[in-house]
Amino acid sequence: MSTRRVLLASRNLHKLAELRALLADLPVEIVCPLDVGIAEDPTEAGLEVWDTFAANALAKAAWFRARSGLPTLADDSGLCVDALEGGPGVHSRRFAPATCVGADGQDPANNRHLLGLLDDRADEERGAHYECALALLDDGLQVVTSGRVDGRIATEERGSGGFGYDPLFVVPEFERTFGELPPEVKAERSHRARAVKAMRTWLV
Ligand code: IMP
Repeated sequence: MSTRRVLLASRNLHKLAELRALLADLPVEIVCPLDVGIAEDPTEAGLEVWDTFAANALAKAAWFRARSGLPTLADDSGLCVDALEGGPGVHSRRFAPATCVGADGQDPANNRHLLGLLDDRADEERGAHYECALALLDDGLQVVTSGRVDGRIATEERGSGGFGYDPLFVVPEFERTFGELPPEVKAERSHRARAVKAMRTWLV
């Protein structure tokens, strides 16, 4: 079977690595925008203006598909915290205000911000889930799948695996964060892994 090139509509190298690993057994080569000569454009920052992961994923897929002509896959994902009424949700990427972002970048600032907001909360009030919507666009094809994983926000960062909020996201079955668990566990149980599972048949 010949390998199909599919463009990932994202500049996030962590997502790229996870999706490549999750699809490694399929005859699909996931390429990123720079691989096909699409330089970063300020317009991209304004694509994710919708209030659902699915709508944002579709907006990103449509924009990159129009520029590449390739079958295009987009991932929109985030962390939804019960005590924050589902926030930061679709705003997960830029959760911490710009004034709180230090030299270590946005992700550590997001984690500090989240810990601060949950400071006085007991374990049972720290419930959260990750959500991921994947959108695939190709000639005459538009598919959206989704995945979710439930957990809890730890009281401090633990582990250095994964990315983003992973050092804070406790998977109850293991009482360990995705930052502490081996990548194989995340690849089996994450929101992204579940959305990919539902998408696999459409990619081949
Ligand atoms: P997006 O690029 O708008 O989809 O932003 C996704 C943001 O959600 C990331 O920047 C992370 O902050 C967070 N996020 C999504 N998936 C994960 C994950 O698997 N681990 C940790 N953080 C994640």
